Amino acid sequence: MNAPLIIVGAGHAGGRAALTLREEGYTGRLILIGDEPHLPYERPPLSKGLLQGSVDLAGYSLCDRERLAALNIEHIAANPVTHLQPEQQRLQLADGQWLAYAGLLLATGGRARRLPQAQANVLYLRTHDEALALRSALRPGTRLVVVGGGFIGLEVAATARGLGCEVTLLEAGPRLAGRVLPPVISAALLALHRQHGVDVRLNVALESIQADAVQLVDGQLLPCDLVVVGIGMQPNIELAAAAGLEVGQGIRVDAQLRTSAAHIYAAGDVCEFRLDGLYQRQETWRNAEAQGRHAALNLLGRQLPFDALPGFWSDQYDWGLLTVGVMTPTVVTRPLPGGALLLFYLDAESRMQGACGWAPGNGAAKDIKLCERLIGARIALDTASLADSEVSLKQLLRG
Ligand SMILES: Cc1cc2nc3c(=O)[nH]c(=O)nc-3n(C[C@H](O)[C@H](O)[C@H](O)COP(=O)(O)OP(=O)(O)OC[C@H]3O[C@@H](n4cnc5c(N)ncnc54)[C@H](O)[C@@H]3O)c2cc1C
Repeated sequence: MNAPLIIVGAGHAGGRAALTLREEGYTGRLILIGDEPHLPYERPPLSKGLLQGSVDLAGYSLCDRERLAALNIEHIAANPVTHLQPEQQRLQLADGQWLAYAGLLLATGGRARRLPQAQANVLYLRTHDEALALRSALRPGTRLVVVGGGFIGLEVAATARGLGCEVTLLEAGPRLAGRVLPPVISAALLALHRQHGVDVRLNVALESIQADAVQLVDGQLLPCDLVVVGIGMQPNIELAAAAGLEVGQGIRVDAQLRTSAAHIYAAGDVCEFRLDGLYQRQETWRNAEAQGRHAALNLLGRQLPFDALPGFWSDQYDWGLLTVGVMTPTVVTRPLPGGALLLFYLDAESRMQGACGWAPGNGAAKDIKLCERLIGARIALDTASLADSEVSLKQLLRG
């Protein structure tokens, strides 16, 4: 009997890969191995709908048990892969069993970066179970300190305000989400959070966390009931690294998402691939979705280069942020009514490379879709027309 295809990591990318393999007609044995006890699920609702209490796990699982069974996908849950032997094409699970594979996908994602000391009043947010623990701790009047002004911290702050918590947010840098967002959007986020009553402190450093307070380096003491730490993600590369696969900040892959070991691919948050000539990881829904699907096709021998456009979204209060493509130094701003914004990123020939939209609700979605088409069209654009909200993007697309 032929060895199976195995996917390690039953999260978004891994789950999407398994479903794609079946959709594409693979009929051999297929095993999806996870260390969480749940079916594969999408994580964006963890800081939004799940915390608010408006959705539950079934609402954002990639599939239900019946579908997995119907597709004959063997899901091994709560049983992490502990050893990988690429030469022998086999791996071992925590329960001791060895499994041989014909092809392997590593989609092991990451975990929340943690502070050195564990403390009862400090919570993190990466998994469904962590989100449930946080949800039960957020009550009206809870004094919450959020450490980290990136997306997770900002979304938790927004949701916690909606639940009636008192929120202080600490950011070590000079602006919010400064690593990934342009200054004008950081400023809009800051204004929005302050409008909603979050006490946002920039350029602050944490000295210590006590049972009922957070101490800053400058001596200030912030009394609180709960601390949520959102200081980034730690990619789960240890299994690959111990097996001798090439790793950097993630598991390194070539243009086809192949790792340095034969028959092994990587996808999702853990995957370090070249974008614009530089190795990088993308920690986004869109990337997990696209790479999971892509790796599945290549496991089936298609040999397709991965060239999907990057992009992400974030929802905070009643505003939405959407990006597509890459940010270049040349940016054109289109102000829209009510403080909404579109930013266009151009190359030296004035062709669009990326775009960012900030608007109430889902207001930027249509424009960002058009930007995606403008990026694909590779046409030189007139910057005055881009900046002018009277000129429709559809018109620019028609040339
Ligand atoms: C709270 C939150 C909110 C988010 N919101 C947004 C958003 O609004 N927009 C957006 O674009 N993106 C968002 N993201 C990012 C997006 O969810 C991730 O990029 C995506 O989940 C990555 O998918 P993945 O499959 O690579 O990793 P994961 O979904 O993390 O899946 C990896 C799985 O592999 C498991 N695993 C690890 N090691 C092993 C092992 N040895 N054996 C077996 N299993 C293992 C992990 O436990 C995990 O279950 C959010 C993420 C979080 C945490």
